[in-house]
Amino acid sequence: MAALRRVVIVGGGTAGWMTAAALAKLLPGRCAIRLVESEAIGIVGVGEATLPHIRAFNDRLGIDEAEFMATTRATFKLGIEFTNWGAIGDSYIHPFGTFGDGKGEIPFHHYWLRLKQAGVDVAPLEQYSVGCMTARLNRFAPPSRNAEELSSTFGYAYQFDANLFGPYLRTVAEGAGVRRTEGKIVTVERDGERGDIASVTLENGERIEGDLFVDCSGFRSLLLGETLSEPFEDWSHWLPNDRAMAMPCRTETALTPYTGVIAMPGGWRWRIPLQHRTGNGYVYASAFLSDDAAADALRQAVEGEPLADPRPLRFKAGRRRRSWVNNCIGVGLASGFLEPLESTSIYLIQAAITLLLELFPEREISDVDRDEFNRMIDLEYDRIRDFLILHYHATRRDDSEFWNYVRTMSIPDSLAEKMELFRRRGRVVKYREGVFLDASWVSVYLGQGVFPQGHDMRADAPPADQLLQAMERLRGEVARTAASMPDHRTYIAQHCAMAAA
Ligand code: FAD
Repeated sequence: MAALRRVVIVGGGTAGWMTAAALAKLLPGRCAIRLVESEAIGIVGVGEATLPHIRAFNDRLGIDEAEFMATTRATFKLGIEFTNWGAIGDSYIHPFGTFGDGKGEIPFHHYWLRLKQAGVDVAPLEQYSVGCMTARLNRFAPPSRNAEELSSTFGYAYQFDANLFGPYLRTVAEGAGVRRTEGKIVTVERDGERGDIASVTLENGERIEGDLFVDCSGFRSLLLGETLSEPFEDWSHWLPNDRAMAMPCRTETALTPYTGVIAMPGGWRWRIPLQHRTGNGYVYASAFLSDDAAADALRQAVEGEPLADPRPLRFKAGRRRRSWVNNCIGVGLASGFLEPLESTSIYLIQAAITLLLELFPEREISDVDRDEFNRMIDLEYDRIRDFLILHYHATRRDDSEFWNYVRTMSIPDSLAEKMELFRRRGRVVKYREGVFLDASWVSVYLGQGVFPQGHDMRADAPPADQLLQAMERLRGEVARTAASMPDHRTYIAQHCAMAAA
């Protein structure tokens, strides 16, 4: 049987270039990689906030952090601040890192719950998190690599210009041998026997054959959706937002080392500070808010001089039933979309690429590899879906039709069970695989007012006065650690500033 030799990537957005760069760098010489993209169609051009996993992706590709940040005009991201979510006036941070020093017998929040439930006046949970407190002070320095130090208990991601990330990876991919072809695909041919994709043909008549096709064509889902007709599982009854207005503005406030997501009457608004501008957008449900009203609300809300008019985007929450069908793998928006509330899309691209590398067919594509890929991608999507729904369902807001709908809607059984488990004694469902771990769920549950009745009984072991003293000591150390870091803007200026315009 002949080796699988030709990989064709359709699309040159973030998904296409991440896939191309990773395959070329990490499977060198394994196959010839071609990428087809159409400048006339363009890319979605949003997607600026990431999760810490992206650092591992960049590292594996040998990308230098300072150069990458300067080129993509990136800032550091310690987490996400949620404003007005549980109720108007609330604010909490979902940090990339732990609460506490990570050294306890059980997750730190159980000790905190024990005191709180006994009526002790403990400080808010975020005051025991280096990530949260550093974010609150607009400071940044990389975490310590020494697990014994408190400054090792947080992680970070990046916020970058979505229009610069793809081109940056393009240089990496082309440097590793990827061949790019400019042109619009007008037809896709399938092999009559198995129904595999055989080739794509461009407007100018050029025909490109392949053994394996990666569909990175964005919302069009040219191969997986249009050609192979893989059904789309619609999750909009749980995640009704289907529109966004995006509008950049000048940064006229502090350079926050976190993404802001501010709940609005018809959805929520993002605020992503970059080195040269701030990205803003209003994500909303067309069933509850008109495009004009969303654009007006966004114009009024942004905190700096607008740099463009609001740009509308449309989407639907859900995913293709399978991401890998025949010899075609959907990566990125072509395989599905979950709204950007927790910055998960680029993470999902990375998860698909990692799986593809692990299961890359040597010769014939096997059903077990394909099934395993689909099983793992389903898990990722389902867990992120539940986590996102939690943010809407766990609200006390009743000030608009939108919030009344999401607060009272039915939720997936899988989420109802997770919430019940947390309500009983603060337990977070454990995953072996998946993106969001204890601290993420805890920050959202408690941040939005889902307060447990009990806690893990092992938290009762230390005497109450000793526990309180230890926690106060820790809180002081957290505050000192955060305050010792440099200002975020200063750190960037010294380590990874973009070239002067
Ligand atoms: P695209 O960028 O749309 O690229 C599609 C490519 O396919 C283009 O190169 C296009 O030219 C090509 N193409 C299509 N049809 C053809 C054809 N016929 N012939 C040739 N080429 C073709 N993600 C995050 O992780 N964080 C965020 O903060 C975030 N915010 C978002 C906000 C909004 C409002 C939206 C809608 C998305 C957001 N995302 C976010 C998701 C993120 O933007 C995408 O996951 C990411 O940009 C990848 O897009 P893509 O490469 O799949 O598609």
